[in-house]
Amino acid sequence: MRLLLKPALSRSWRDSETLQFGTVRQYAGVVERADRARCDFLGLLDGTRDRPALLAAGERAGLGREPTGALLDELERTGLLDDAEAAGRALARFPQPHRELLGPDLASLSLVHSAPGAAPAVLGRRTDHRVEVRGAGRVGAAIAAVLAAAGTGAVTVTDTGRVRPADCSPAGLPPGEVGRLRSTAARDAVRRASARRTAPSTRRPSARDLDLVVLAPRDGSGAFAGGAAEARELLRAGVPHLYVGVVEEFGVVGPLVVPGVSACGHCLVLAREDEDPAWPRILAQLADEGPGRARTPACDTGLATAVAGLAALHAQVYLDGGRPPSLDGWCELSAVDGMPRRLRLKGHPDCGCLWQPQPPG
Ligand SMILES: [Zn+2]
Repeated sequence: MRLLLKPALSRSWRDSETLQFGTVRQYAGVVERADRARCDFLGLLDGTRDRPALLAAGERAGLGREPTGALLDELERTGLLDDAEAAGRALARFPQPHRELLGPDLASLSLVHSAPGAAPAVLGRRTDHRVEVRGAGRVGAAIAAVLAAAGTGAVTVTDTGRVRPADCSPAGLPPGEVGRLRSTAARDAVRRASARRTAPSTRRPSARDLDLVVLAPRDGSGAFAGGAAEARELLRAGVPHLYVGVVEEFGVVGPLVVPGVSACGHCLVLAREDEDPAWPRILAQLADEGPGRARTPACDTGLATAVAGLAALHAQVYLDGGRPPSLDGWCELSAVDGMPRRLRLKGHPDCGCLWQPQPPG
């Protein structure tokens, strides 16, 4: 392990002998008694030395072996150290142009996962993640591109038909793609986002091989946990899935369903039905190509981009081992005021998705 001070952190003096790493006070790490000798020692934490070499260097600089060890422990406890060797190994798993693009992502991960080497381990694991995005509209294509850019190993996008102007957004499919097959255009968006020289594999992994499916149908029904048959299949296969969509002026991220662990999309439909008995009937018609559909479906570019970004972030947090607020809940965003809200979702008693099997006998 070759230790370095996290390059993501700014440095500023709180007073003449207190050095602050990081900007926001409640998250910042502080080195006290930062005299010349300690500052010179901090300069050695550049990722070229392991702990024994640093202890020897501290001793040579007159800091003393034990105080140097105590300083290193304090820096690690405060979350200021990372492992340059692990970072190099993690980035080596990506092709060169993508490696450079991922620098700020790894820097961000180093602040979220604080132990030395933890962030590179998370980034390295992303190369093993397989995500399928269903729907290549303004929301779905953007989610796929963001996940690919963030280092997700395999991002496939499924959809039918050809790109229409309403599918385009700066974060997903550009206007020049109008008329191409949606599946091809989305695959190219994924390739561009991850700076790959060759197109990603077109082979669609089987559902059981997927770590996450993002349900972002172009009709926006993902905003209301539509697609009951598809969701049942994913529940049966034990595949985690995240509902996302924009309908009219309203965007939704969640629920994120981990089968058998968190409340599912049908729980949400039942909860809405408790408030509005006609809801299932309206939801079914939303998914139909019937005469009641809006002639120009609304999808604000800013709202769709925000919803896609939030959904991609929730997917990443989940795949990286965290617990995003779309688990047992969902987040709403309205184009009226741009104010995000988080709502709680309990397992509905009539759903049964969280029933535990009874022990035999
Ligand atoms: Zn349920």
